[in-house]
Amino acid sequence: MKKIAILSGDGIGPEVMVQALKVLNAISQIYGTEFKFFDALIGGAAWDEYRDHFPDETRRICNEADAILFGSVGGPVGSDEEKWRNCEVNSILALRKAFNFNVNLRPVKTHEDLPCVLKDPGDVDILCVRELAGGIYFGTHEINDGVARDVMEYSSSEIESISRVAFEFAMKRAKKVTSIDKANVLACGRLWREVVTRVAKDFPDVEYEHMLVDNAAMQIMKNPSRFDTLLMPNMFGDIISDELSVLAGSLGMLPSASINTEGFGLYEPSGGSAQDIAGKDIANPIGMILSGAMMLRYSFNMDKEYEAIMKAVDSALRDGYRTADIADGKVVSTSVMGDVIAKAISNF
Ligand code: NAD
Repeated sequence: MKKIAILSGDGIGPEVMVQALKVLNAISQIYGTEFKFFDALIGGAAWDEYRDHFPDETRRICNEADAILFGSVGGPVGSDEEKWRNCEVNSILALRKAFNFNVNLRPVKTHEDLPCVLKDPGDVDILCVRELAGGIYFGTHEINDGVARDVMEYSSSEIESISRVAFEFAMKRAKKVTSIDKANVLACGRLWREVVTRVAKDFPDVEYEHMLVDNAAMQIMKNPSRFDTLLMPNMFGDIISDELSVLAGSLGMLPSASINTEGFGLYEPSGGSAQDIAGKDIANPIGMILSGAMMLRYSFNMDKEYEAIMKAVDSALRDGYRTADIADGKVVSTSVMGDVIAKAISNF
């Protein structure tokens, strides 16, 4: 029996979470795996109840779980309401810190049945490996007398740890790592490059290259299929993986896994709470559903069940089902997309 903490959060979070749970329940029925779900409040939803974005009760439920499924947090961009002030920092960033989730995996693929904004992207299959527990997001942030200051810091051991993960994943893929930094300007970038070069020596079968982030942002759009495993510090990984989402059709298509060195994981779609479309039953639930699939693979070693979800999603897309963000076929609601994918599980 697997205990899963369910942190649906805000905006579209609860809407897409329901769909992921439908699919996990279908897996449970067909494969006989028992999942026990424990709901916990996070973000603005937790604020309403506790005036705290990450209450102790939620921390306790996460501590006792085998994995965490996370929807999204945050209010309308730019809102100055107290409920939304520092919501993301106090909830998802605090969760990452609390469990030291230092590895973030974001797979990006083009789908043969979905149109892509690029004319000829080729066969794109990229794994973003993003450092998640350090860098500028976790340095101090302050504004004093009209001067803002954000501190970026990386230690060799933090860089080495994420680099080893990227090279190990690359070994199971196309054996190619592109490490992205800003070594021409930042000290963190110079250390990043030095450590990655050292770690690469332990993986002689993996071809690797260094690329400056500004160039990488351009090269990825110019010729995405030449890339395989991208190794990135926290902020660059955040930005580049959102850029890559357009290749998959929509931000709503992208899952992610955040894992610590003990193998404990949090799984969430790559996008945010999408307040512009929340409450309308039109959000794309596929990123959330695929995040559930990643949980089965990376936290529970359930490869068969993982494959069943991947195939069920593919079959829904092949049959022309589309949410509004990827619409070029039968436009269906969030909940119908969830139903179609959950039903398709029995075919695989
Ligand atoms: P966003 O990722 O929520 O949305 C960006 C765009 O992508 C929007 O147009 C949105 O409609 C679209 N989109 C995102 N997910 C989608 C889905 N599943 N289906 C269809 N379209 C989708 O980013 P934002 O608008 O800049 O931020 C909104 C809030 O989310 C902010 O409060 C921000 O802080 C928060 N946020 C939270 C997380 C997180 O919970 N991990 C991540 C990023 C942003």
